[in-house]
Amino acid sequence: MADEVALVTGGATGIGAEVCRQLAASGARVALCDVNERDGRQHAAAIGATFIPCDVTRYDAFADAVATCESTLGVPTFVHLNAGIMTVPTGDAFLAIEAVSLEQYRRIMGVNLDGVFHGVKLLLPRMRVKGGAITITASIAGLGVLPIDPLYATTKYGLIGFGRSVAAANASGNVRINVLCPGVVDTGIVPDAFRTGAHGPMPPAVMAAEAVDLLRNGANGEVRVKLRDREAFAVGPTDLGA
Ligand code: NAD
Repeated sequence: MADEVALVTGGATGIGAEVCRQLAASGARVALCDVNERDGRQHAAAIGATFIPCDVTRYDAFADAVATCESTLGVPTFVHLNAGIMTVPTGDAFLAIEAVSLEQYRRIMGVNLDGVFHGVKLLLPRMRVKGGAITITASIAGLGVLPIDPLYATTKYGLIGFGRSVAAANASGNVRINVLCPGVVDTGIVPDAFRTGAHGPMPPAVMAAEAVDLLRNGANGEVRVKLRDREAFAVGPTDLGA
Protein backbone atom coordinates (compact mmCIF):
# COMPACT_ATOMS: atom_id res chain seq x y z
CA MET A 1 0.00 0.00 0.00
CA ALA A 2 3.04 2.28 0.15
CA ASP A 3 2.22 3.86 -3.22
CA GLU A 4 -1.35 4.72 -2.40
CA VAL A 5 -2.23 8.39 -2.06
CA ALA A 6 -5.74 9.40 -1.04
CA LEU A 7 -7.41 12.83 -1.07
CA VAL A 8 -10.59 13.22 0.98
CA THR A 9 -12.75 16.36 1.11
CA GLY A 10 -14.78 16.97 4.25
CA GLY A 11 -12.22 14.89 6.13
CA ALA A 12 -12.21 16.85 9.37
CA THR A 13 -15.31 15.27 10.93
CA GLY A 14 -17.94 12.58 10.43
CA ILE A 15 -17.80 10.06 7.58
CA GLY A 16 -14.79 11.69 5.91
CA ALA A 17 -12.78 11.67 9.13
CA GLU A 18 -13.37 7.93 9.42
CA VAL A 19 -12.49 7.34 5.77
CA CYS A 20 -9.19 9.18 6.37
CA ARG A 21 -8.53 7.10 9.48
CA GLN A 22 -9.22 3.78 7.75
CA LEU A 23 -7.16 4.67 4.68
CA ALA A 24 -4.23 5.91 6.78
CA ALA A 25 -4.42 2.77 8.93
CA SER A 26 -4.08 0.66 5.77
CA GLY A 27 -0.88 2.47 4.82
CA ALA A 28 -2.12 5.10 2.34
CA ARG A 29 -0.71 8.63 2.42
CA VAL A 30 -3.82 10.70 3.11
CA ALA A 31 -4.52 14.34 2.24
CA LEU A 32 -7.29 15.41 4.60
CA CYS A 33 -8.92 18.45 2.98
CA ASP A 34 -11.44 20.64 4.79
CA VAL A 35 -12.46 24.22 5.62
CA ASN A 36 -12.56 23.24 9.28
CA GLU A 37 -8.90 23.83 10.08
CA ARG A 38 -9.07 23.20 13.81
CA ASP A 39 -10.67 19.74 13.68
CA GLY A 40 -8.90 18.90 10.43
CA ARG A 41 -5.41 19.58 11.76
CA GLN A 42 -6.12 17.79 15.04
CA HIS A 43 -7.56 14.69 13.36
CA ALA A 44 -4.83 14.56 10.71
CA ALA A 45 -2.15 14.69 13.40
CA ALA A 46 -3.87 11.92 15.36
CA ILE A 47 -4.13 9.49 12.42
CA GLY A 48 -0.92 10.30 10.54
CA ALA A 49 -2.60 12.16 7.66
CA THR A 50 -1.65 15.50 6.09
CA PHE A 51 -4.10 18.36 6.62
CA ILE A 52 -4.60 20.60 3.59
CA PRO A 53 -6.95 23.59 3.99
CA CYS A 54 -9.52 23.58 1.19
CA ASP A 55 -12.82 25.30 0.54
CA VAL A 56 -14.31 23.14 -2.20
CA THR A 57 -16.63 25.94 -3.33
CA ARG A 58 -13.63 27.96 -4.57
CA TYR A 59 -12.00 26.48 -7.68
CA ASP A 60 -8.67 28.25 -7.12
CA ALA A 61 -8.50 27.11 -3.49
CA PHE A 62 -9.26 23.53 -4.53
CA ALA A 63 -6.57 23.76 -7.24
CA ASP A 64 -4.07 24.95 -4.61
CA ALA A 65 -4.99 22.01 -2.37
CA VAL A 66 -4.51 19.54 -5.23
CA ALA A 67 -1.11 21.10 -6.02
CA THR A 68 -0.10 20.79 -2.35
CA CYS A 69 -1.20 17.16 -2.31
CA GLU A 70 0.82 16.40 -5.44
CA SER A 71 3.96 18.11 -4.19
CA THR A 72 3.87 16.62 -0.68
CA LEU A 73 2.24 13.20 -1.11
CA GLY A 74 1.93 12.55 -4.85
CA VAL A 75 -0.94 12.27 -7.33
CA PRO A 76 -3.93 10.64 -5.64
CA THR A 77 -4.92 7.09 -6.46
CA PHE A 78 -8.12 7.46 -4.47
CA VAL A 79 -10.30 10.57 -4.18
CA HIS A 80 -13.33 10.80 -1.94
CA LEU A 81 -15.42 13.88 -2.78
CA ASN A 82 -17.38 13.88 0.42
CA ALA A 83 -17.77 17.48 1.71
CA GLY A 84 -21.43 18.36 2.04
CA ILE A 85 -23.88 20.52 3.97
CA MET A 86 -27.62 20.94 4.44
CA THR A 87 -29.40 24.21 3.65
CA VAL A 88 -29.38 25.43 7.28
CA PRO A 89 -26.71 24.78 9.91
CA THR A 90 -27.34 21.80 12.19
CA GLY A 91 -29.78 22.70 14.98
CA ASP A 92 -31.46 25.57 13.07
CA ALA A 93 -35.09 25.14 12.06
CA PHE A 94 -35.58 23.93 8.50
CA LEU A 95 -37.15 26.49 6.17
CA ALA A 96 -40.07 26.36 3.77
CA ILE A 97 -38.60 26.61 0.27
CA GLU A 98 -39.89 30.16 -0.22
CA ALA A 99 -38.09 31.27 2.96
CA VAL A 100 -34.68 30.04 1.80
CA SER A 101 -32.45 33.01 0.98
CA LEU A 102 -30.53 33.26 -2.27
CA GLU A 103 -27.36 33.14 -0.23
CA GLN A 104 -28.40 29.86 1.41
CA TYR A 105 -29.33 28.46 -2.01
CA ARG A 106 -25.95 29.39 -3.51
CA ARG A 107 -24.11 28.08 -0.46
CA ILE A 108 -25.53 24.55 -0.63
CA MET A 109 -25.15 24.40 -4.42
CA GLY A 110 -21.59 25.65 -4.00
CA VAL A 111 -20.52 23.02 -1.49
CA ASN A 112 -22.52 20.00 -2.65
CA LEU A 113 -22.45 20.44 -6.45
CA ASP A 114 -19.72 22.95 -7.41
CA GLY A 115 -17.37 21.28 -4.92
CA VAL A 116 -17.73 17.88 -6.59
CA PHE A 117 -17.47 19.33 -10.11
CA HIS A 118 -14.31 21.20 -9.08
CA GLY A 119 -12.85 18.00 -7.66
CA VAL A 120 -13.58 15.88 -10.74
CA LYS A 121 -12.40 18.61 -13.14
CA LEU A 122 -9.13 19.02 -11.29
CA LEU A 123 -8.36 15.44 -10.35
CA LEU A 124 -9.70 13.12 -13.06
CA PRO A 125 -7.17 14.18 -15.73
CA ARG A 126 -4.27 13.98 -13.26
CA MET A 127 -5.29 10.51 -12.07
CA ARG A 128 -5.47 8.96 -15.56
CA VAL A 129 -1.75 8.09 -15.71
CA LYS A 130 -1.68 5.97 -12.54
CA GLY A 131 -5.36 5.03 -12.49
CA GLY A 132 -7.53 4.82 -9.40
CA ALA A 133 -11.02 5.72 -8.25
CA ILE A 134 -13.19 8.70 -7.34
CA THR A 135 -16.07 8.12 -4.92
CA ILE A 136 -18.72 10.83 -4.52
CA THR A 137 -20.83 11.01 -1.37
CA ALA A 138 -24.48 11.53 -2.32
CA SER A 139 -27.28 10.32 0.00
CA ILE A 140 -30.45 8.27 0.09
CA ALA A 141 -32.00 11.76 -0.10
CA GLY A 142 -30.91 11.61 -3.75
CA LEU A 143 -33.15 8.60 -4.35
CA GLY A 144 -36.21 9.54 -2.31
CA VAL A 145 -37.92 12.64 -0.95
CA LEU A 146 -36.77 14.98 1.82
CA PRO A 147 -39.54 17.50 2.54
CA ILE A 148 -37.52 19.25 5.26
CA ASP A 149 -34.73 20.17 2.83
CA PRO A 150 -35.62 20.03 -0.88
CA LEU A 151 -32.36 21.73 -1.89
CA TYR A 152 -30.30 19.05 -0.14
CA ALA A 153 -32.26 16.38 -2.02
CA THR A 154 -31.73 18.33 -5.27
CA THR A 155 -27.97 18.33 -4.85
CA LYS A 156 -27.85 14.64 -4.00
CA TYR A 157 -30.04 13.66 -6.99
CA GLY A 158 -27.67 15.79 -9.05
CA LEU A 159 -24.60 14.02 -7.73
CA ILE A 160 -26.00 10.58 -8.59
CA GLY A 161 -26.72 11.68 -12.17
CA PHE A 162 -23.35 13.41 -12.41
CA GLY A 163 -21.41 10.44 -11.07
CA ARG A 164 -23.15 7.91 -13.31
CA SER A 165 -22.79 10.08 -16.39
CA VAL A 166 -19.12 10.93 -15.85
CA ALA A 167 -18.46 7.25 -15.18
CA ALA A 168 -20.12 6.29 -18.47
CA ALA A 169 -18.23 8.98 -20.36
CA ASN A 170 -14.93 7.65 -18.97
CA ALA A 171 -15.73 3.94 -19.08
CA SER A 172 -12.72 3.16 -21.25
CA GLY A 173 -10.29 4.85 -18.87
CA ASN A 174 -8.53 3.56 -15.80
CA VAL A 175 -10.23 5.81 -13.22
CA ARG A 176 -13.44 4.34 -11.77
CA ILE A 177 -16.11 6.80 -10.65
CA ASN A 178 -18.83 5.69 -8.27
CA VAL A 179 -21.33 7.07 -5.76
CA LEU A 180 -22.12 6.30 -2.12
CA CYS A 181 -25.65 6.87 -0.80
CA PRO A 182 -25.54 6.73 2.99
CA GLY A 183 -28.61 6.25 5.12
CA VAL A 184 -28.57 8.11 8.43
CA VAL A 185 -25.09 8.26 9.98
CA ASP A 186 -24.23 9.53 13.44
CA THR A 187 -22.46 12.79 12.52
CA GLY A 188 -22.92 16.48 13.17
CA ILE A 189 -24.99 17.04 10.02
CA VAL A 190 -27.92 14.84 11.12
CA PRO A 191 -31.13 16.62 12.21
CA ASP A 192 -32.38 15.61 15.66
CA ALA A 193 -35.60 14.26 14.14
CA PHE A 194 -33.56 11.54 12.42
CA ARG A 195 -31.71 10.41 15.52
CA THR A 196 -34.44 8.14 16.85
CA GLY A 197 -36.69 5.40 15.55
CA ALA A 198 -36.26 2.58 13.08
CA HIS A 199 -33.97 4.61 10.83
CA GLY A 200 -31.71 5.91 13.59
CA PRO A 201 -28.08 6.54 12.81
CA MET A 202 -25.22 4.17 12.01
CA PRO A 203 -21.69 4.67 13.30
CA PRO A 204 -19.52 6.66 10.84
CA ALA A 205 -17.04 3.76 10.77
CA VAL A 206 -19.67 1.50 9.15
CA MET A 207 -20.28 4.03 6.38
CA ALA A 208 -16.60 4.81 5.96
CA ALA A 209 -15.86 1.12 5.39
CA GLU A 210 -18.28 1.19 2.43
CA ALA A 211 -16.59 4.29 1.02
CA VAL A 212 -13.16 2.67 1.31
CA ASP A 213 -14.49 -0.50 -0.33
CA LEU A 214 -15.98 1.56 -3.17
CA LEU A 215 -12.62 3.28 -3.68
CA ARG A 216 -10.74 -0.01 -3.73
CA ASN A 217 -13.24 -2.42 -5.30
CA GLY A 218 -16.34 -0.52 -6.49
CA ALA A 219 -17.41 -0.82 -10.11
CA ASN A 220 -17.28 2.15 -12.46
CA GLY A 221 -20.72 3.82 -12.33
CA GLU A 222 -21.81 1.89 -9.24
CA VAL A 223 -24.30 3.67 -6.98
CA ARG A 224 -24.20 1.96 -3.59
CA VAL A 225 -26.77 2.39 -0.81
CA LYS A 226 -26.02 1.52 2.81
CA LEU A 227 -28.80 1.56 5.41
CA ARG A 228 -28.37 0.78 9.07
CA ASP A 229 -29.83 -2.70 9.26
CA ARG A 230 -29.14 -3.95 5.74
CA GLU A 231 -26.17 -5.12 3.74
CA ALA A 232 -25.07 -2.51 1.22
CA PHE A 233 -26.68 -2.87 -2.21
CA ALA A 234 -26.29 -1.29 -5.65
CA VAL A 235 -29.12 0.59 -7.39
CA GLY A 236 -29.32 0.85 -11.16
CA PRO A 237 -30.43 3.75 -13.36
CA THR A 238 -33.85 3.66 -14.99
CA ASP A 239 -33.46 2.22 -18.47
CA LEU A 240 -34.79 4.78 -20.92
CA GLY A 241 -33.45 2.83 -23.84
CA ALA A 242 -30.82 5.46 -24.55
P1 NAD B 1 -20.06 16.33 8.75
O1 NAD B 1 -20.70 17.66 8.88
O2 NAD B 1 -19.41 15.70 9.94
O3 NAD B 1 -18.97 16.34 7.59
C1 NAD B 1 -18.99 17.26 6.52
C2 NAD B 1 -17.59 17.82 6.35
O4 NAD B 1 -17.58 18.67 5.18
C3 NAD B 1 -17.15 18.68 7.56
O5 NAD B 1 -15.86 18.29 7.97
C4 NAD B 1 -17.15 20.08 7.00
O6 NAD B 1 -16.20 20.95 7.61
C5 NAD B 1 -16.81 19.82 5.52
N1 NAD B 1 -17.15 20.94 4.66
C6 NAD B 1 -18.29 21.69 4.68
N2 NAD B 1 -18.19 22.69 3.77
C7 NAD B 1 -16.98 22.54 3.17
C8 NAD B 1 -16.30 23.27 2.15
N3 NAD B 1 -16.85 24.36 1.58
N4 NAD B 1 -15.07 22.84 1.77
C9 NAD B 1 -14.50 21.77 2.35
N5 NAD B 1 -15.08 21.04 3.33
C10 NAD B 1 -16.32 21.44 3.73
O7 NAD B 1 -21.21 15.37 8.19
P2 NAD B 1 -21.13 13.94 7.46
O8 NAD B 1 -22.39 13.27 7.77
O9 NAD B 1 -19.85 13.26 7.74
O10 NAD B 1 -21.20 14.39 5.93
C11 NAD B 1 -20.31 13.87 4.95
C12 NAD B 1 -21.10 13.66 3.68
O11 NAD B 1 -22.06 12.62 3.89
C13 NAD B 1 -21.90 14.88 3.20
O12 NAD B 1 -21.79 14.99 1.79
C14 NAD B 1 -23.32 14.55 3.60
O13 NAD B 1 -24.26 15.20 2.79
C15 NAD B 1 -23.30 13.05 3.38
N6 NAD B 1 -24.37 12.30 4.04
C16 NAD B 1 -24.45 12.26 5.39
C17 NAD B 1 -25.47 11.52 5.98
C18 NAD B 1 -25.62 11.43 7.47
O14 NAD B 1 -26.65 10.90 7.93
N7 NAD B 1 -24.66 11.89 8.26
C19 NAD B 1 -26.39 10.83 5.18
C20 NAD B 1 -26.27 10.89 3.81
C21 NAD B 1 -25.24 11.62 3.24
